[in-house]
Amino acid sequence: MQCSLCEDKAIYEVRYSGASLCEYHFTEFFEKRVKREIKSQMRLGNSPKTIAVALSGGKDSSVLLHLVHKFLSKRKNTRIIAVTVDEGIQGYRNLELESARKLCNRLGVEQKILSFADEYGLTIDEIVQKDPATIPCAHCGPMRRQVMNTLAMGVDADYILLGINLDDYAQSAFMNVIRGDLSRMKRMAPHTGMRGVLVPRVIPLKQIPEKEVMIYAVLNGIKQNHVWCPYYGKAQRNEARDMINLLEDKHPGTTHSIASFADEIKGTFNAVGDMDLHECSRCGKPTYGVLCSVCQNLEKMIKS
Ligand code: SF4
Ligand code: ZN
Ligand code: ZN
Repeated sequence: MQCSLCEDKAIYEVRYSGASLCEYHFTEFFEKRVKREIKSQMRLGNSPKTIAVALSGGKDSSVLLHLVHKFLSKRKNTRIIAVTVDEGIQGYRNLELESARKLCNRLGVEQKILSFADEYGLTIDEIVQKDPATIPCAHCGPMRRQVMNTLAMGVDADYILLGINLDDYAQSAFMNVIRGDLSRMKRMAPHTGMRGVLVPRVIPLKQIPEKEVMIYAVLNGIKQNHVWCPYYGKAQRNEARDMINLLEDKHPGTTHSIASFADEIKGTFNAVGDMDLHECSRCGKPTYGVLCSVCQNLEKMIKS
């Protein structure tokens, strides 16, 4: 199969556009979309900026750090810091932490790490031990978002960049529809507001399907561990993933359509700002409710 843009051999068929691309044109197509998202989601200007990149050590966040370093490290007045959360999941997170550390060393990027054990006195493994019926991801997601924000606030970051790809974004939108949760839909990243007590979350891989992130990682020597979180099977998003993948297979472009639909819905609302936030009545962290999701989940666990 030949590249649609030159005479070289194609390495990837873009099913949703009908094009076939060689390594050079795949890379160009990939990087162009990420640059465009960085430009549209962040106001970099000329004043000094601190950019925190959420680095788990998995392929998405590693590709993101690689790209942010490639595009922005030479920029004047720009500080890039990798922020990593250790959820305390043996046999998984410890391996990814090692990959994250190595990537930071290779790129010369400063890294800050904070663990659930230090922040909450409890790891995800311990939560599961205490309450085997719990869905670990329901605790892990909100805890990770809080810890990420604490890390980003701690380095005075203007933005926090997350390795959320197109598939992740479409799945989150789809789950919000299934749950009828419009308020969560409005709060989905990317955020456009200025920094207050929550650092705006930016998602430069938003237009890139997961498969393309994987190919880019291989082409750029970004190591992947191929280990899965042991609790992955209990994640509710698996159902959304399966449904969207089935539709994408039958009707290429469905994932993009769901993502654009979410963008349009979000665009009809004003930016959700810090004025909508309160302090959690238990832990004092910013929340849109009375209790933050972390405290709500821990409370349910104690009662059960
Ligand atoms: Fe956390 Fe669930 Fe992801 Fe595992 S699969 S890291 S428990 S969110
Ligand atoms: Zn080509
Ligand atoms: Zn709380």
